Amino acid sequence: MMGIAEAAAALKNGAITSAGLVEQVIANVAAQDGVIKAFLKLDAEKLRKLAAESDARRAAGKALSEYDGIPVGIKDCIVTEGETCACASKILENVVSPYDSTAVAKLKAMGFIPTGRLNMDEFAMGSSCENSAFQKTANPWDVSRVPGGSSGGSAAAVGARLVPAALGSDTGGSIRQPASFCGIVGLKPTYGRVSRYGLVAFASSLDQIGPMTTSVEDAAIILQAITGEDKMDSTCLPMAADDFVGAVRAASVEDFKSLKVGLPAEYFNAEGMSKEVKAAIDKAVEMIKAAGAEIVPVSLPHTKYAVAVYYIIATAEASANLARFDGIRYGARQEAKDLVASYFASRGAGFGDEVKRRILLGTYVLSSGYYDAYYLRAQKVRTLIRQDFEEAFKKCDILLTPVAPNVAFKFGEKSTNPLEMYLSDIFTIALNLAGNCGISVPAALGSESSMPIGVQFIAPALAEAKLLKTARAFEMLRGDFPAPAGC
Ligand code: GLN
Repeated sequence: MMGIAEAAAALKNGAITSAGLVEQVIANVAAQDGVIKAFLKLDAEKLRKLAAESDARRAAGKALSEYDGIPVGIKDCIVTEGETCACASKILENVVSPYDSTAVAKLKAMGFIPTGRLNMDEFAMGSSCENSAFQKTANPWDVSRVPGGSSGGSAAAVGARLVPAALGSDTGGSIRQPASFCGIVGLKPTYGRVSRYGLVAFASSLDQIGPMTTSVEDAAIILQAITGEDKMDSTCLPMAADDFVGAVRAASVEDFKSLKVGLPAEYFNAEGMSKEVKAAIDKAVEMIKAAGAEIVPVSLPHTKYAVAVYYIIATAEASANLARFDGIRYGARQEAKDLVASYFASRGAGFGDEVKRRILLGTYVLSSGYYDAYYLRAQKVRTLIRQDFEEAFKKCDILLTPVAPNVAFKFGEKSTNPLEMYLSDIFTIALNLAGNCGISVPAALGSESSMPIGVQFIAPALAEAKLLKTARAFEMLRGDFPAPAGC
């Protein structure tokens, strides 16, 4: 299945129709998703109807944009009007959204077709998609391995070329890590770049929606479509988008000649990094160096606290955000002798183990007597982590790091040890705490596992144009990246 830019060109010259694109998605899902299990829901009839409307608009010269009629998969925590939004949780099973998230509304305004509901870790808590209450999504490169998480359904669907692109969300790495595991591009925008209205909140000060695509250009197209001020989200920045697509189209390998690329020491000597990941990242560094980039050693000294700080702040916010799911206002209710007993029973039956663990941790760190020791201190260290990035960006334009210490792991390998699972986010989490932007771009296939390995570029807040341009230039240096066999 082609990506966004290619589909737009084919629609323009009449080589394909929206109906044709949608039939491909339906056929791909029928052929492959029985094994991959990326989609929780896909309403074929609805897609056909929307495609027919798009084709009619285009025939009448009234296409909403050059992308009118292109399907985009949606992670199950980003609401689409009239569709279920379960966040892969039993507590929200069969809950239908009465409204569109701003990101989906903006896609629709350009004629993109929101497509299905993509699997995820329950409430976006996890790194493997194994925490979904409904199904385990497989990695299209090796179905005995996880696709990563929490946006594992989005990554697997795009990686397997079931859909041209998808939306994911990233609180501590949930777009970038699964993108790396499935051999695709994943962008975590600056906090506030994309409205969170209609994104079911996990940790409100960290969550961002972003694109998951097969190319950097497609990531720019989707970011351009979903960004911008929104009066429904007071944390969404009141500023016009830069020309992300233009920046990507202007990219060239010559760009490296004027680029200072920082390598944070703490990201290269991390414990537990596999040899093949290290080799792939070293090779990426060599490539950009040979293309003329100036390599600058930098330090982000508070990185070692990032995972601990994240699991205090994210769980604290989650415990507050998830308090609303009580079986009374939304979702599955367990009847019991009185209201409190019903709360206990509904939440007990509705949430999975990982979600309960986080609610307990979050409630604990916010409780009187512990608030200062944990939550307040974590907020202070968060500031230090942000200042680390600010210092580093005085010495370089962009940072280059690994995305994850390992390639996609096997099912069950880490799911019995939550701490080990948490530690797999060491390279992605700091940047959510700092609020700036980062992108994962496929760099190589692992020398031992033959699994995809992504490289992460990190830019200062609101420097997405520079980030995307650099990522595109890297893509040009790298050359074509394969799709998984049979996709
Ligand atoms: N893996 C991290 C967690 O479990 C990040 C998840 C995310 O970004 N939503 O919290």
